[in-house]
Amino acid sequence: MQTDPPPYTLIRKQIRSVRMTVRPPDGEVRVSAPRHVAKREIDRFVASRAEWIAEHQARIAAAPPPLEAGPEAEELRAELRARVEPMLAEWAERMGLLPVPPYIIRRMTSRWGTCNVKTRRITFALELARRDDEKLEYVVVHELAHLIEIGHNQRFYAVMDRHLPEWRRIRRELNGK
Ligand SMILES: [Zn+2]
Repeated sequence: MQTDPPPYTLIRKQIRSVRMTVRPPDGEVRVSAPRHVAKREIDRFVASRAEWIAEHQARIAAAPPPLEAGPEAEELRAELRARVEPMLAEWAERMGLLPVPPYIIRRMTSRWGTCNVKTRRITFALELARRDDEKLEYVVVHELAHLIEIGHNQRFYAVMDRHLPEWRRIRRELNGK
């Protein structure tokens, strides 16, 4: 006896084992499989993961759509600027990094922030406009910390521990883990 698998897109590839992803924005299930694995076997595999697939699809459906350029994004940018500015000034002073580094806000899909240590310019993801002050503060301190220590190494983590002892928990929450 076998239940039908949820609908999925099958891609045949030269790989060693079957891989499955659930993709935004619509929760499409995509399965990559080696050519020698029978369709029936793949159906069985996908059916066995039905619960996992449903959970992922629910999470994707609950997430707000990515920010598109336009009036809403501009409004969020202004809001975020008003929040970032005092926070950046306060932390730059606290961390001994005056003058306050320049910053810009951009739409970024895979990162919350970056820091160019040569120009000292920090870039914040516009998506942070939808996160609370604690998360924003974590990104501010993280990017400033790169002006003290470039890499993500023990010295960098020591700087984070000193200034924001809760940073690991906040980062976990920010990344939805
Ligand atoms: Zn970093």
